[in-house]
Amino acid sequence: MPGEFDLIRRFFHYPTSHTDLGVGDDGALLRARPGMQLVVSTDMLVAGTHFLPDVDPFLLGWKTAAVNISDMAAMAAEPRWITLALALPHADEAWISALARGFRDCCEAYCVDWIGGDTTRGPLNLCPTIFGEVPADAAVRRDGALHGDDIWVSGWPGMAALGLAQLVQELQLVSAWVEPCVERLQRPVPRVALGIGLRGIASAMLDVSDGLLGDLNHILERSQVGAMIEESALPLATLLAACKRTERAMDALLRGGDDYELLFCAPREKRGQVEALGRHLELPLHRIGRILDKTGLWLQRGDGVCEAVAAHGFDHFSRTGG
Ligand code: ADP
Ligand code: MG
Repeated sequence: MPGEFDLIRRFFHYPTSHTDLGVGDDGALLRARPGMQLVVSTDMLVAGTHFLPDVDPFLLGWKTAAVNISDMAAMAAEPRWITLALALPHADEAWISALARGFRDCCEAYCVDWIGGDTTRGPLNLCPTIFGEVPADAAVRRDGALHGDDIWVSGWPGMAALGLAQLVQELQLVSAWVEPCVERLQRPVPRVALGIGLRGIASAMLDVSDGLLGDLNHILERSQVGAMIEESALPLATLLAACKRTERAMDALLRGGDDYELLFCAPREKRGQVEALGRHLELPLHRIGRILDKTGLWLQRGDGVCEAVAAHGFDHFSRTGG
């Protein structure tokens, strides 16, 4: 069985492209570019909580990097460096090699240098820390939403939740949609170009990891505003095609997590700029509601009736969490 240092040398040590000193010393040496602020974030993945124990290790490696890169996208930052602290129950070389390849492939796809980490024995747990750069004061935070702003969401929120329901055999999707939904769960695509493109346009932003309504509520609380979501503007068509049940599709869209789409607010007068960015990136951007000056979260139904909605998304410590 390989030892710790053997594992590091064989599986966790790669060349870097913009790092002064990477894996192999007591610390890595990084150099932020002039005028840039550093953005730092940690997002841990735990077996049984964030992924099924029998998950494909390559896909797990990809997702572990992707969800951290997504946090940089959500700050409008460019992801630059990442570390990976991991606990492994045993040193299964084929498994570790596939995990490292998945992690590394995702890092490479987004020009992120893998610059260090820690490797120890224990219950399976993957904990990256990611570092990004953003021009000083250009980061898009959660606390900037203003009354009258439009609310937007990118891509196809809800597909990952349908993919998970399929995998745990809680739902049988239309066969042509099984693979696309499971792919969205297992191989999320962080919206880095969108996040960067929204500098100077978005007033508030986050990535949807715990459910659209719950995550929107984080923006509302931090910005001290409320929101109205228009049911008729929600991108439901794909989800309906996949599961054929309106209520289930709506639940996946509003409360399903794990899609890593960007949810953002932008002033009305920037609508044209948002739409142009979506066309440029060939990514659908849906205008799903607006920010109110009174607090609370409201859903305007197709018949015009407005109802208050419970905002909670997934919460690890709440019994009502999804
Ligand atoms: P030390 O005990 O001196 O802090 P370690 O033995 O933990 O160092 O690690 C040696 C080197 O290998 C360090 O540069 C560390 O960042 C790197 N490293 C350890 N585990 C990983 C990993 N999972 N991924 C990338 N680099 C790692
Ligand atoms: Mg160490």
